[in-house]
Amino acid sequence: MTPYDTGETKDIPEDQTSSISTATRRPSRSEAEAAVELLLRWIGDDPAREGLVGTHERVVRAWEEFCVGYNEDPASMLQRTFEEVEGYDDMVMLRNIRMESHCEHHLVPILGSAHIAYMPDRRVVGISKLARVIDSFARRLQTQETLTAQVAETIQSVLQPKGVAILIDAQHQCMTTRGVRKPDVSMVTTRFTGVFQTDTNLQRRFLEQARLG
Ligand SMILES: [Zn+2]
Repeated sequence: MTPYDTGETKDIPEDQTSSISTATRRPSRSEAEAAVELLLRWIGDDPAREGLVGTHERVVRAWEEFCVGYNEDPASMLQRTFEEVEGYDDMVMLRNIRMESHCEHHLVPILGSAHIAYMPDRRVVGISKLARVIDSFARRLQTQETLTAQVAETIQSVLQPKGVAILIDAQHQCMTTRGVRKPDVSMVTTRFTGVFQTDTNLQRRFLEQARLG
């Protein structure tokens, strides 16, 4: 047990208790807009000048869109499946899915593409649903590693295919436009489950097809 984890809450002074409840309460839209105005003032600009009128509202609406995934349930997108596929039993792959996310460390874009495949076990899913699952996890604050794992594990656990493979190749603007500023660097992450993990030939086929993109 660490000194911070006493298992007791009764000793927390009153002013701290109130700051905890403020932190967990979801702020209102106008509070979020005020935070954007504060940031604009902090960077040295004037939120009241002509060009910035309404910016605080637009930024909050934009973030609503960037993070719409928090209100979605990706597992539910894979509920509807089809079994009439004439015994089709090979890899199903969706290539070059445009992927837009935001890094959870700097709140700047992660832009790239994803390639997903699964080996069906009788059931297949509407192909656009795979892209929707990517979107749903991408439109949150993310790390690329977490995103890759979440997509693979969700498809594996809901659709229950013989295996899932995913490769994401993306550029992180926190690295390309700031910090070390390496504009051409992209990050590649992969996750394999089931037969894609155990069958190296199958894994190689997937990687070859992904590279064609
Ligand atoms: Zn970052």
